[in-house]
Amino acid sequence: MIKIAVDGPSGAGKSSLAKAVAAKMNIVYVDTGALYRSIGLYIRRKDISPDDTATVINELPNISLDLRFENGEQHVMLCDEDVNGLIRTPEISMYASKVSAIPEVRAFLLDTQRSIAKTNDVIMDGRDIGTVIFPDADVKIFLTASIEARAKRRYEELKEKGIETTVEDVLNDMKTRDENDSTRSVAPAVAAKDAIILDNSDLTVEQTIDEAIRIINENTHKTTEQTRFYRHFYNFFHRIFKFCMHLRTTGYENVPEYNGCVVCANHVGLLDVLAISACFPRERRLRYLAKAELFKIPLLKTLIIALGACKLDRGGSDIGAIKKSVSLIKSGELVAVFPQGTRQKGKNPAETPIKSGAGMIAYHAKAPMLPVCVKMKKQKYLLFFRRVDIIIGKPIPYSELGFEKGGGAEYKAATEKVYAEICKLGGFTADISDCEDKSAE
Ligand code: C5P
Repeated sequence: MIKIAVDGPSGAGKSSLAKAVAAKMNIVYVDTGALYRSIGLYIRRKDISPDDTATVINELPNISLDLRFENGEQHVMLCDEDVNGLIRTPEISMYASKVSAIPEVRAFLLDTQRSIAKTNDVIMDGRDIGTVIFPDADVKIFLTASIEARAKRRYEELKEKGIETTVEDVLNDMKTRDENDSTRSVAPAVAAKDAIILDNSDLTVEQTIDEAIRIINENTHKTTEQTRFYRHFYNFFHRIFKFCMHLRTTGYENVPEYNGCVVCANHVGLLDVLAISACFPRERRLRYLAKAELFKIPLLKTLIIALGACKLDRGGSDIGAIKKSVSLIKSGELVAVFPQGTRQKGKNPAETPIKSGAGMIAYHAKAPMLPVCVKMKKQKYLLFFRRVDIIIGKPIPYSELGFEKGGGAEYKAATEKVYAEICKLGGFTADISDCEDKSAE
């Protein structure tokens, strides 16, 4: 799982940045400040002073906090109430800042924050993400800006929400909060030693996002490296396919831009991998496993390696293939897997049996699955000149694949889920009389 930590003082733009990066990378954004704010709200409602440490600590067992995600938007449930709309006022900001200095409060929130990253790729913003929550984060960004720039931004934000205040008041609040946050004895808001400092005082939001993405790419190597040969080969092939086979691609934008993924396709013919690779964004290399024997043939070896093939060790055993695929996906690669196993010549894709390896790979790599449908149609009189459609569906996130403890039944169910999606994309049904794929190889 990918863990990206974004720490920094209030008003540096952590949440806008983290939200934008999460959307681009198709990962979960967690705003940890909202958790502290929710405790602040709870304490305020109970009329407890945030300086009354003992009473705040006594109240903790009565507080239940949960994070829910709807359409990528985080909702904090405070004792089963969605409090998202109530925690952004200046008063609650100050409560949050004060209660967050209490070690017991921080310990209380530790598990909530860590557990989300067990099953999701996350970008998390806060004050101590890189130092305490995820000292092992893949990338740590410390986002900062001058206090004047931050106060001005926060003022605009509050104004937009209809909260009345002045720039001076915001600036003073911010100074107090900065002081509280950075000097508290527990988890002070300071940059981790291995964090990359990003000062955006003079950057626009877009420039900040671009810079953060550059930092993330540089530090995660999540975009798989391309050789020029790979790009040229597939550019060339794409043209050939287009010319000879009227290759059409739908859903190009659904290919994840950064993270690893199990790419599942139906297996029609020998050219599947080439056709799919030719339709993927060039900066995302599609990897596939090839038998060890192929790597013994000198020229072929060089060619297939350049085109993304990985050697299947252990004499091609299934376990070897699964392990190799998992490690590739974990390092951010896209790996093609055919749930049908072998080519299903002339068979109805909706009725061919499927295996469960793809689901097993997704489970162990904690990765999403991307359904890709290949439709080939032979032309009546031109044998080689067939019509090819590649339809790329939306990735199914790991959290929607129904995994709990792993195991054969879960792997099968996840593979069936993605395969059902492939059939839906292609319009394959038990009765394929209308389906173009009828005349496929
Ligand atoms: O980030 P935000 O301004 O929403 O956070 C509210 C307050 O919660 C901050 O002023 C800070 O004191 C506290 N906080 C923290 N650790 C985090 C996130 C927020 O101490 N990880």
